[in-house]
Amino acid sequence: MTLDRSWFTEPMESTGTAFSLKAEKVHEEQTPYQKIEIFKTETFGWLMTIDGCTMVSTRDNFLYHEMMSHPALNSHPNPKNVVIVGGGDCGTLREVLRHPEVASATQVEIDERVTRLAEQYFPELCEKNADPRATLFFGDGIQWMKDAKPGSIDLIIIDSTDPVGPAEGLFGKKFYLDCIKALGPDGMLVQQSESPLLHLGLIKEMHQAMREAGFVQTHLLHFPQVIYPSGWWSASIACKKAGPLASRLDEAAIAALDAQFYNADTHRAAFALPTYVRKALGA
Ligand code: SAM
Repeated sequence: MTLDRSWFTEPMESTGTAFSLKAEKVHEEQTPYQKIEIFKTETFGWLMTIDGCTMVSTRDNFLYHEMMSHPALNSHPNPKNVVIVGGGDCGTLREVLRHPEVASATQVEIDERVTRLAEQYFPELCEKNADPRATLFFGDGIQWMKDAKPGSIDLIIIDSTDPVGPAEGLFGKKFYLDCIKALGPDGMLVQQSESPLLHLGLIKEMHQAMREAGFVQTHLLHFPQVIYPSGWWSASIACKKAGPLASRLDEAAIAALDAQFYNADTHRAAFALPTYVRKALGA
């Protein structure tokens, strides 16, 4: 019996929905950027929230972290230099570094406290932080991208919070122009793009802004994500180059990733779009 425990609830006024977990708060702090809270849940392990929004839980983070990294990495012909914008819990960095073809992975997180708390409550996500290929940089991803050496990056992964507060500028044409400049000729960007059920308007706007910035093609992929609004999430890929995405789905290489959700079938399935989404994106 755990009736003494309370519930964490994330209400979404704009969609008339809410998500709850039975949980007790164990930590709360206001950083210069945002309010971070840690909860001990009854069935999902640890939960981190930022400004009241769910970010990462022990139980279901593998879905998001694997699908933010492996489909894009295996769609690029030769991803050597990877930059993660945001991603302070380090779970995406861990997945990226499972790929032997990646020579360097730089995580650019604005709020160092997210990473310090992840080290404490989600140590399994931080297990590759000491990999010699990893660099942890703490600063604003928008400025970092402005200053990046032109043509120096193969894949940019934007693992940010929702498009409000410090992440707002990561969702527009201005930022995508800086990304294009920083990317090499085969360069690609993948960005978390919210729920295909609740936020289709935002996804459309993102794809439009990516194309207006000069990316010649955009793709949506989708996957389950229990703790995010609607339980169904997406990522958007933008490519500098025309032509089909690479599909490096070698069974042995995928088995070596030791992933829990990702495999060749879930890779292909993630790019299969529902009819209404196809219509909305003109895909
Ligand atoms: N998986 C999560 C989601 O979709 O809700 C995102 C998790 S990750 C913890 C998001 C990170 O993006 C946060 O740690 C936040 O500090 C970081 N972030 C937000 N704006 C940023 C910016 N402008 N530059 C770098 N990092 C930023």
